[in-house]
Amino acid sequence: MHTAFISHPDTLLHVMDGNHPESPARISAIKDRLIASQVFDHLQVYDAPLASDEQLGRVHDAAYIRRIRKTAPQAGIVHLDPDTAMGPMTLSAALHAAGAVVLATDLVISGKAQNAFCCIRPPGHHAGRANAAGFCIFNNVAVGVAHAIARHGIARAAIVDFDVHHGDGTENIFRSNPKVMLCSTFQHPFYPYRGADSRTDRMINVPLPAGSGGVAFRAAVEQDFAPALMHFKPEILFVSAGFDAHRDDPLASLNLIRDDYIWVTKFIKDIARRYASDRIVSTLEGGYDLISLADSATAHIRTLADI
Ligand SMILES: [Zn+2]
Repeated sequence: MHTAFISHPDTLLHVMDGNHPESPARISAIKDRLIASQVFDHLQVYDAPLASDEQLGRVHDAAYIRRIRKTAPQAGIVHLDPDTAMGPMTLSAALHAAGAVVLATDLVISGKAQNAFCCIRPPGHHAGRANAAGFCIFNNVAVGVAHAIARHGIARAAIVDFDVHHGDGTENIFRSNPKVMLCSTFQHPFYPYRGADSRTDRMINVPLPAGSGGVAFRAAVEQDFAPALMHFKPEILFVSAGFDAHRDDPLASLNLIRDDYIWVTKFIKDIARRYASDRIVSTLEGGYDLISLADSATAHIRTLADI
């Protein structure tokens, strides 16, 4: 059984303002490193399909989907919020990003892949039911989770979000859904300034102060995520894999290193082996230092694939 790698050429054509940190170079950096390290040879590679309105509509309001389709410009840039903009190719990139997680979910649940990594942008975890935010337009991981539930009859899905920012959009979408658990570590206080006070028995939010490193992160995973996941017994695990908690990331101030990403990936695999028939769907969120992003994502994928 293999690890699937799902991406699409249009992820390289979504461009916001000139020097925006959420740039096409992020995808190229990861893919180049996978090829140079020969990890790519071991992956089953797929082009992402477009997500349908039915798939998006499980987590986004119909009026919001219509608004995004209508806002997409023929030329130039249109801002959805101060951090998030659409260019002429953004809609296609966003639809393929969400579609990648749908395909990954189908591959993993049908047994055609053991696990999958979606190398996509725009990221998704700040997008709520009816809003874009923080570089995110559609909530890719949420679209995958909702597909697993609606199409495959999954009764319990868990999301591990180790991006440095809280997955507030994902929390917004699934907060009152008893079939979904979200485990999220994040720097606090920090953008999006949510999550620190909204923990429940299924929204396992663990704020970490600026300057926290691997010791604090691993303690959060072991002491907060592990007991919750063992109690919940997810049938599939999703990962909001942001690599912006790395110590070299320019946007944030946590101090994770490659070994922490390998460690948390092994933790996720262990939970998946115990409860979820090894099923893991991982999707790229943040990570803005190209060198540490490529290095960390490659380590994550290498660990998923047992290479
Ligand atoms: Zn982030």
